Amino acid sequence: MQDEVLVLGGGVAGCAASIALARSGRAVRMIEREPTPRHKVCGEFLSGEALEDLEMLGIDVVALGAVPIDYVRLAATRRAAEAPLPFPAKSLTRKTLDTALIAEAMEAGVRVEPGRSVQSLTRTAEGGWQARLDNGELCEAPTAFLATGKHDLRSHRRPDDPQRWVAFKMYYRLTPAQAAELTDASELMLYPGGYGGIQPVEDGIANLCWVVQQRYLARAGHRWDRFLLKMQEACPHLAMRLAGAEPLMEKPISVSRIPYGYIRPTTEPGLYCVGDQAAVIPSFTGDGISIALHTARCAVAAYLANQPAPLYQARLRSALLPQMRLAEFAADGINNAPARAILPFCLQLWPGVMRVTARLTRVAAGQVPMAPQAIAG
Ligand SMILES: Cc1cc2nc3c(=O)[nH]c(=O)nc-3n(C[C@H](O)[C@H](O)[C@H](O)COP(=O)(O)OP(=O)(O)OC[C@H]3O[C@@H](n4cnc5c(N)ncnc54)[C@H](O)[C@@H]3O)c2cc1C
Repeated sequence: MQDEVLVLGGGVAGCAASIALARSGRAVRMIEREPTPRHKVCGEFLSGEALEDLEMLGIDVVALGAVPIDYVRLAATRRAAEAPLPFPAKSLTRKTLDTALIAEAMEAGVRVEPGRSVQSLTRTAEGGWQARLDNGELCEAPTAFLATGKHDLRSHRRPDDPQRWVAFKMYYRLTPAQAAELTDASELMLYPGGYGGIQPVEDGIANLCWVVQQRYLARAGHRWDRFLLKMQEACPHLAMRLAGAEPLMEKPISVSRIPYGYIRPTTEPGLYCVGDQAAVIPSFTGDGISIALHTARCAVAAYLANQPAPLYQARLRSALLPQMRLAEFAADGINNAPARAILPFCLQLWPGVMRVTARLTRVAAGQVPMAPQAIAG
């Protein structure tokens, strides 16, 4: 059968879009450059919205080992403050989540091509899309979904990140006492040049994920280990958590140039951009996965309703703009003000940002046929 849709990238957004399209009877080919899912730089916090979307896709995160997160704790210098989260949340490693999503996509009938990287995406003479793969193969379809996450295709670049953020992720096995204190909580840490988060994930381990502006990393000789020490000096709460912890990776995985606050203004006909290729919210909101799932749902609904891709992209932009600006405002506050002074403000704001995010990413029922179940059949 001829492919009707090419999905470029098999992360959260690419898989969610592929599953919904295949369940609607479309012939979908999804190209993913990794041969098998591996660890990604991500805090691995699943907000209430993300959990709802994953359930709709048939992903049982509890069966996969997700742990509940009921509290948010903010720590700066020697102070920490705690608040209950205003919605149910969980955490699960991306490796486990992405593995389950790809399996679900295959089950739904998606032709998954792992281990193939898309080198370029160009228009065909007929107005469709042609992807050139790293083995020279050319794949064509009338419609394409761009879901390559943090990685841009050369011909479809997002603007540069002026702050030059660098993000790291590392797993630790905490001491039993520290692991017990972290149970049910996601902790956000503030330090000069960035912020980080630590939370439990499945199998009794903890995820430490942090972002730092390049110029602050430069002051630590561009060395992640030196910067991690600086983080602990600035935030003794983190030092306490990591005391006696066993690192479970030789070194953290990292990613750079993250265009926080970006919302794609437009696209070309037949090219629906989803996930981080559509919008990149500051990491501390813990809402990137939810937005990835939401944009996939909206794009599929638009495609099935014959809504042109440029119209979908414009509507998505207006819907996400208020939330993105609020998150950016909060992120600026965190990065610029002395952390000690803004701690109570941050604690009030963070769950609020998440709640607003949740509301704004939910498109009113009946506006467009959003839910994959409503589309299917
Ligand atoms: C530091 C940090 C912490 C974060 N913490 C959280 C959090 O706690 N909770 C949360 O909800 N969000 C978080 N996020 C955001 C979240 O990780 C992303 O928003 C989400 O992964 C976006 O999904 P995606 O499908 O667009 O991209 P991804 O999940 O990254 O998937 C993109 C896929 O495309 C593939 N790909 C890339 N290039 C090509 C190519 N050329 N050809 C073929 N395949 C390709 C990649 O291999 C990848 O599998 C965080 C982000 C950062 C940077």
